[in-house]
Amino acid sequence: SDSKTKHEYQSDVARLRKIVIESLYSHREVFLRELISNANDAIEKLRLTALKDKTIWDGVAPLNITLKLHKDSDEDTGRLVITDTGIGMSPQELSANLGTLAKSGTSEFLAKADSSSSSGNLIGAFGLGFYASFLVADKVYVASLPPATPANPNPEQHVFSSSSDEPSFEVYKDPRGNTLGRGTEITLILKKDALEYTDEENVKKLVSKHSGFASSFPIYLFTSKVEEQPIPQDDMDAPAEEKVETPKSDDEEMTLEDTTEKPAESAEVKMRNVTVEEWVHLNDQPPLWQRDAKEVTDDEYKNFYKATFKQYADPVLWHHFKGDSGPVSFKALIYVPESLPEDYWQSPLAASQDTRLMVKRVLITSDFGEHKLPKWISWAKVLIDADDLPLNVSRETLQNNRFLKQIKNIVVTQFIKAMTKISEEDPERYTNILKNYNHVLKLGVIETAVEGKSGNRDKLAALTRWDTTLRKNISLQEYIDSRKEGQTQIYFLANIGQSTENMRHSVFVEKLMARGYEVILMTDTMDEIFVGNLRTYGSMRFQDAAKKGLEYGDEDKEKEKAEMDKFKEDYKPLVSFFVNSTKEAIKDVVISNRLVTSPCAIVVDSFGYSANMEKLLASHGK
Ligand code: ADP
Ligand code: MG
Repeated sequence: SDSKTKHEYQSDVARLRKIVIESLYSHREVFLRELISNANDAIEKLRLTALKDKTIWDGVAPLNITLKLHKDSDEDTGRLVITDTGIGMSPQELSANLGTLAKSGTSEFLAKADSSSSSGNLIGAFGLGFYASFLVADKVYVASLPPATPANPNPEQHVFSSSSDEPSFEVYKDPRGNTLGRGTEITLILKKDALEYTDEENVKKLVSKHSGFASSFPIYLFTSKVEEQPIPQDDMDAPAEEKVETPKSDDEEMTLEDTTEKPAESAEVKMRNVTVEEWVHLNDQPPLWQRDAKEVTDDEYKNFYKATFKQYADPVLWHHFKGDSGPVSFKALIYVPESLPEDYWQSPLAASQDTRLMVKRVLITSDFGEHKLPKWISWAKVLIDADDLPLNVSRETLQNNRFLKQIKNIVVTQFIKAMTKISEEDPERYTNILKNYNHVLKLGVIETAVEGKSGNRDKLAALTRWDTTLRKNISLQEYIDSRKEGQTQIYFLANIGQSTENMRHSVFVEKLMARGYEVILMTDTMDEIFVGNLRTYGSMRFQDAAKKGLEYGDEDKEKEKAEMDKFKEDYKPLVSFFVNSTKEAIKDVVISNRLVTSPCAIVVDSFGYSANMEKLLASHGK
């Protein structure tokens, strides 16, 4: 309809806008990053939709983002206009996407903003998206035109408008008609104190700081400057001021060519002022992953990660490498987030994957189907850019192609390589990383064992770290390297959820400790499964200190046997008394040389479940 419809914001949106406007003033420049990232998302969406439905984009019409700045110094007003040629929004989408809070990140922001006095830093921690516009604008107009489709052959351009000081927004048919070919144009009527965003140099700097790499599509800034130029001889009567606007082009920057002929030496040269306007390509650098790793700074890697994967904390590790998969060569980046996704342990299988496959810098898919990363590493943020795959390769073709499977294997191998390197070069940083990732490495060992890829399994086991009766955070190799002479087993004691301090006083470790042996203390639910899967490391068997089969390695076999035989003989009546009176509950009663100060211990035989495993299985209802 032609009439304007007025809507009240949901109360959450109204609250959010208020918080944004009031408390995030000092971070307000992020509005541009948010708008560019939305424009980029919209173009990406158009392109991905067009892979299936060619009618919405012919593959030729330019995909780009343009910025135009206007300043009226007389009136002290200014505007910033950002336009994209993306998927656009219908009037319903305008009000649903911009007038409601659909985004979980935003609700999370609200929760935090309520409980924290310094929401100033939060804008960095949460993407506020479109609402960040109100940091710099009194009024915002969003004009949008979705592509024509068979279902909607004649879409009409609509406008969403809203003022920062009103708790409502309007959606109406654009009185100018369909001025956009397709896409969205956002006009910010800048606040009086935000006129710095009409300054070309300022905006150029901002784009390269925040969003140069947040867009894989070209960003153009419309610039104009007044230049003095000689007046061509045959044009002497032309007015002294002339406006020349050069067309914008996708792949090349157009500048006004000076085609005027050089005036003859002798002739008197007359000059006039010409306004030269041109589209300047702002993000013409190759994308970060295409650059030489040696030339990329840590800050660039971090900023790229946050902008690309919409993360708010710095990554704890990244790995940038070139790879080859048969005839296909590619560049890749793997990032390790600061922490695991919150729901990771509830449903590691369902955990969302962020593995992006690009071909020649263009996103093809983030769905690896059956070749997605194993669950232990499903949290990794990965970007792969292949050089030689056909651009229009379909997902089905990819699935059948060995490429995705190879990529998966290469990512896993390269992650292990990067972790191994950091563990050797910077153990302190490594320990820090492992605070959140030791568990997943163990899960990796378990999962890989099932797949039977022993190569990666042992490398993953080597990356795990353990607390022992003597030390903290040691590797299995360190354990083995400092074993005592004659020690043939890797001793461990498992007790889920116990403190390692208590475990050091366990009856099961006392004889081992008395002999100066180190015992690995396992307190994680996964540890026994880990050991059960791995069984040996570096050709030594894992031995549960609470189970049969414990060997000390330094036994004087002859002497001990004689002693034991004597004990057995002497205590025969006592043992048979115990056996007879505990028949129901206990499998056997034996004389042991395992204890030092405790009179007795209940143990499980080497094939039985330990008390700990029983607990675990009971909790899983087995
Ligand atoms: P987010 O980008 O995290 O979803 P935003 O607040 O930035 O949150 O944007 C909200 C929604 O508005 C987007 O998800 C998208 O559907 C829509 N949107 C915003 N900007 C554009 C645009 N330039 N073109 C098309 N849709 C857009
Ligand atoms: Mg956004």
